[in-house]
Amino acid sequence: MDQLPVPFAADGGVPAGYGGARVSAPDLAVPPTLVHDGLGEPPPAFVRTKPSADERKILAAIEAEAGWMVDLLARLVQAPTVLGNEQPGQDVMREAFAEMDLDPVGVPMDPEAIRGHQGHAPFDWDVRDKENLVATWEPSGDGGGRSLILNGHIDVVPPEPVGQWKSPPFHARRDGDWLYGRGAADMKCGLAAMTGAVRGLKRLGLSPGAPVHLQSVVEEECGGNGTLACLLAGYTADAAIIAEPFGAAITTSQVGVLWFRVKVKGVAGHAAEHAVGPNAIEKSYAIMQALRRFESQLNLDPPPPYERFAHPINLNVGAIQGGDWASTVPGECETSYRIALYPRMRVRDLQDQIEAVVAETAAEDPAIFSHPPEVHYGGFACEGYEIATDAPLVTSLANAFARGTGDPPALVATTGTTDARVFGLYGGTPAVCFGPYAERAHGVDERVYLPSVVQTAQVMGLFIRDWCGLTG
Ligand SMILES: [Zn+2]
Repeated sequence: MDQLPVPFAADGGVPAGYGGARVSAPDLAVPPTLVHDGLGEPPPAFVRTKPSADERKILAAIEAEAGWMVDLLARLVQAPTVLGNEQPGQDVMREAFAEMDLDPVGVPMDPEAIRGHQGHAPFDWDVRDKENLVATWEPSGDGGGRSLILNGHIDVVPPEPVGQWKSPPFHARRDGDWLYGRGAADMKCGLAAMTGAVRGLKRLGLSPGAPVHLQSVVEEECGGNGTLACLLAGYTADAAIIAEPFGAAITTSQVGVLWFRVKVKGVAGHAAEHAVGPNAIEKSYAIMQALRRFESQLNLDPPPPYERFAHPINLNVGAIQGGDWASTVPGECETSYRIALYPRMRVRDLQDQIEAVVAETAAEDPAIFSHPPEVHYGGFACEGYEIATDAPLVTSLANAFARGTGDPPALVATTGTTDARVFGLYGGTPAVCFGPYAERAHGVDERVYLPSVVQTAQVMGLFIRDWCGLTG
């Protein structure tokens, strides 16, 4: 996912909970369980029931896979699958699928086909050596059930600053019920859970009433083209669950995300001559401030459900590159930004507004901005996505959750984006995120609460029974 989730606050105040608030509470006396803490809303059609005898067998069978899931997760964390190096992680997943007698299919990244789809994220790197993996658990009988995609991404964000980690980021360190490492939270724990769910069901000798596709995709963290490639290869279903680490919550709304870069040109010269020309680094700061003001405007009157958030649209100044010598006035500076957009807002409209802010800032001081700053795009350029809170996928998953854990899940909106939009907007496949409880995604000492990995798998097992049907 692109940003930590924040559940709705029940009183409409500043939200806290699964993501942000617990980042600063590393030494909880009582570890959290996979039971929501009242910050979200249970779904409207929620029914509290207990698991049947058959379902208790499913819960037990999946629990018996706990050690296997943790082991798979550790192996995945030890594969440093940053952008461009995803394959070692896919090799681990291929092995895991094969161990379960599934036959994983590699889905290549076809640059032309991806670029030809309206939902693609622009990219300027080579993707031809990459593959997504899809392992399909085929129905054995007449079928009649509803099909399902369980999806997770293998790529992780870079671990910098590495020196701040308590243990090396690609060393899977277990401490009690927590597993630490880059990707432990976002989202190798989800890949382990969804795979463990199917493994447990298969151990019981069960078969689904419709295909269950397990997908391990690349390039989620930079735009979603891996999931898009699977869609282009024909993988759609009656529902999709992305096992992102949202804790005891189901996402029903997510923002869109746009990445952009602003290139400011100055006049390079010797630093000994005062005011030789505009300093590209300093001028970039003026643009940054203008974009901050623009961000404030976007947060003034958020549409539902984002009115529950204190600050739903976040602009991030993510990287800056400018200058090359302490005694040279920098002639160029490029700043990389991430900004969000509300569901139903178009990317093109946001781009127009950003370009106007940049142009106006430069126009205010033409003597200083010797060249007009340029706005470039690459990576995320996606719209938001929503699913009805009473959609069959949402209520069915919520009811499975309640039978598995004894409590309703929260329905949450997120101020980040996930691949759910690819399924929902372009694949005709209703999609939500539901996954383990984790902390510090994208941060130092990222970690996942291991019991929640098992509970996620158990809930998925019950959901597969309800949604797809199980025989055997
Ligand atoms: Zn993620």
